[in-house]
Amino acid sequence: MSKNSEQRTYLVLENYIGGKFVSCQSHIDSYDPSTGEIYCKVPDSGKEEVEAAVAAAKQAFPEWSARSPEQRAQVLNKLADLIEANLEEFAQAESRDQGKTVIFARTLDIPRSVYNFRFFASSVLHHTTECSQMDHMGCLNYTVRCPVGVAGLISPWNLPLYLLTWKIAPAIATGNTVVAKPSEMTSVTAWMMCKLMQQAGVPPGVVNVVFGTGPKAGDALVGHPDVPLISFTGSTATAQRITERSAPYCKKVSMELGGKNPAIIFADADLDQCIETTVRSSFSNQGEVCLCTSRIYVERSIYPEFLKRFVAAAKKWKTGPPSDPSSNNGALISKEHLEKVRSFVALAKSEGGIIHCGEGVDQLDLPEKHKSGYFMPATVISGISDSSRVMQEEIFGPVTCVNPFDTEDEAVSKGNGVRYGLAATVWSRDVGKVHRLAKRLQAGLVWTNCWLVRDLNLPFGGMKNSGVGREGGKDSYHFFTEVKSITIKH
Ligand code: NAD
Repeated sequence: MSKNSEQRTYLVLENYIGGKFVSCQSHIDSYDPSTGEIYCKVPDSGKEEVEAAVAAAKQAFPEWSARSPEQRAQVLNKLADLIEANLEEFAQAESRDQGKTVIFARTLDIPRSVYNFRFFASSVLHHTTECSQMDHMGCLNYTVRCPVGVAGLISPWNLPLYLLTWKIAPAIATGNTVVAKPSEMTSVTAWMMCKLMQQAGVPPGVVNVVFGTGPKAGDALVGHPDVPLISFTGSTATAQRITERSAPYCKKVSMELGGKNPAIIFADADLDQCIETTVRSSFSNQGEVCLCTSRIYVERSIYPEFLKRFVAAAKKWKTGPPSDPSSNNGALISKEHLEKVRSFVALAKSEGGIIHCGEGVDQLDLPEKHKSGYFMPATVISGISDSSRVMQEEIFGPVTCVNPFDTEDEAVSKGNGVRYGLAATVWSRDVGKVHRLAKRLQAGLVWTNCWLVRDLNLPFGGMKNSGVGREGGKDSYHFFTEVKSITIKH
C-alpha cells in the first residue's frame, strides 16, 4: 500500500522476477471500473525489467525442463490447490479490478484458473509421440518433443487470471519457463498468484511476471531475441503489430484474437432454451468475452416472435453493482471502452437501426458510489445492414444485433460475411441441418444448441482475423514443444 499527496491509499503492485518481488520506478494508474476511481498502481515496466525477467527465466530453464512431467505436474496441482483455497479473495479482487460481477468471477474466472492448472498437470502425463518402421531400409523412426525455452505470454483484460493461466499452465507443464505480461488494466490477480508461487514449489525464475503497457513492456518481450515463442490473446490490431515485431526473429506465435460471432436460429429451434442461452451468450461478462454472440440471424417465420421474447429477456438482464448478487452484469473495463461501445449504438441509430432496449445509463438505478462507474445496460438493435460497421466490427460490449434470414444458404453467407471467424452458434432440432451448417461456417468453434461448453482437450482458436494456431490439450502440447524426428538405422 502507498499514499499520495492527498493521503489516499493505493494498492501498489511489484514485478515478480526470479522468485522475488521487485519494485518499479514508475507506475500506471489502475481504475476500479465500478466507481471510476483509481485504486491501484501497476508497474510501468520497460526493457530493463523485461531483460531481468528473461535472464531469470533462461537461468531456470535447464533445471525445470530436466524435471519429469510428473514432478512438474505436482507443482501445478499445488498451485491450483492454493488458488482454490483463496478463491473468494481472488474472486473479489478480479471483480474490483475488471468490473465484472463477483458471482461471475467466483463461478467462472477463478474456478477455471484453478482447472487450467489441474487440466494441464494431468494432460501432460498422457501425450504420446509417433513411431514408424521402415524395415526395408533397416530404419526405425520416432519423434520426441522438447520444451521450446523461454515463453513470452501476453494476455488481455476481459478474463484476466483465466486467460493468463490458460497460457502459464501448459507452458510450464511442458518444461518451458515463462515471462508473462498481463493487461495493464487488470494485473491484480496475476500479482496475487505470484505470492503463492514459492509455497507451491515453483522454483525461482520458472514463472516471471512483468507488469506494464503493451507498447513498452509487451513490445520489449516480443522483441527480445531470447524469447523464441509468443502466446498472445488480445485484439487483431495488436496481433498485427506483434506479428511484424516478431517476424525478424522467426518466433513461434499463437494468436487468439477478436470475434464477431453469429448465432443462427432456425424455426425448429427450442426457443425457450435458445433465448435463455442467447441472452447469456450476448451479454455475459458485459459482452466482454471474445466468444460472445454479437450478430443474431433468425429464420424469418419466427423472427417477430423471437425478437419480442429476446428483447423481453434482455430487459431482465440486470446491470448493477458488481457485488450485488442480483446483478447479471457489472461495469465495462474503462471509460474509453464504454465510449467506444456507446459510439456503435449511436452509429446504429444514425443508420436507422431500432434500439429495442439498453443504451443509456440513466435507466439504471445505481447507488451513489457507482454513479461514476462505467455501466451500460444490455442493448438489442435490429434493422442494421450487414455491411454496417456495427455488423462488421467487434464491439466487445453488451450490444447485440438481430436480423432475419430466409434460406440456409443465406444464413451461412451472412454468418461468414465478416473478417472474423472465432465462434458460431446454431440452433435447430434437425441434426442434418446443424451438421451442414457447422461444416460450412467459417469459425474455429461451432456450438449447436448450446454456448461456451468447453472441453479443454479440444483445439481452441479462430479462423481468418480471429487467430493463428490453436491451443488446448494436444494443441497446447504441440505449440509449447518442438518436435524432432529421429531415425535409427539398425
Ligand atoms: P489488446 O490487444 O489491446 O491487449 C492485449 C494485451 O496485449 C495486453 O496485455 C496489452 O498490454 C498487450 N499489448 C498491447 N499492445 C502491444 C504491443 N504493441 N506489443 C505487445 N503487447 C501489446 O486487447 P485487449 O483490449 O486487452 O483485449 C480485448 C481483445 O482481446 C478483444 O479483441 C477480444 O476479442 C480479444 N480476446 C480474444 C480471446 C480469444 O481467445 N480469441 C480471448 C479474450 C479476448
